[in-house]
Amino acid sequence: MPGEHIIYHELIEAMGQAGCPICRLCEQAVAGYIDSILYEQVNAPSFRDKFRAAMGFCAEHAAEMAGAGRALGIAILYKDILDTLLEEAERQPSAGEWHSLLAQHAPCPACQQYLTMEQAYLGAFVQYMDRPAFRQALEHSDGLCLAHLRKLLEHPLREEDVHFVLAHHLRQWEQLRQELGEYIRKNDYRFRHEAFGPEGDSWQRTLELLTSGRDWKEGEAGRGTGFRRRPSARRRG
Ligand SMILES: [Zn+2]
Ligand SMILES: [Zn+2]
Repeated sequence: MPGEHIIYHELIEAMGQAGCPICRLCEQAVAGYIDSILYEQVNAPSFRDKFRAAMGFCAEHAAEMAGAGRALGIAILYKDILDTLLEEAERQPSAGEWHSLLAQHAPCPACQQYLTMEQAYLGAFVQYMDRPAFRQALEHSDGLCLAHLRKLLEHPLREEDVHFVLAHHLRQWEQLRQELGEYIRKNDYRFRHEAFGPEGDSWQRTLELLTSGRDWKEGEAGRGTGFRRRPSARRRG
């Protein structure tokens, strides 16, 4: 995890770019994590165990891994999972046992990494919010997405920080609403001759900022470690 000083500068820089800075930084961190797995950890037994226990990545991170361009690493990691499933099959599990096996696995390691980094970046965000340079960067940023604004507000914040953050987001939402209104108006056949201005991509920017978050329910709670619990039973026969 990056040091305190680095996180501060990462946040400032991310606020100078489009979209939610926390989303941007967490996505970058996960992309780096996936790269490091494919470059360095494919042959590390501890990571292989973790990956097997999670039955691989979730759909989103599997797709991201597919784009990382390290096919051999992917083949090695996923062959492990098929080995495990086919070993399980030798015990001739019932449909119910198959169901538990497929349902009860550890959370996606990349989702876990995302959550860890999200916590670090939001914690730093809270910590730096009273610094004038940080506030200034926030004031000129697109603001946080709905999911990260909600998570930020779960932290103990000073009342003035809450007002500052909410006022900035209300201004951003008002601006986006006006741009969407203009975008909708220019799509009317009576105004189609008018060229699009900055509102042309307002629907895309809105989609990025008005995300209510990922469905982490599976990853956060309840998932057991079906694959990890079974090896002794598996090797008995
Ligand atoms: Zn976000
Ligand atoms: Zn995931």
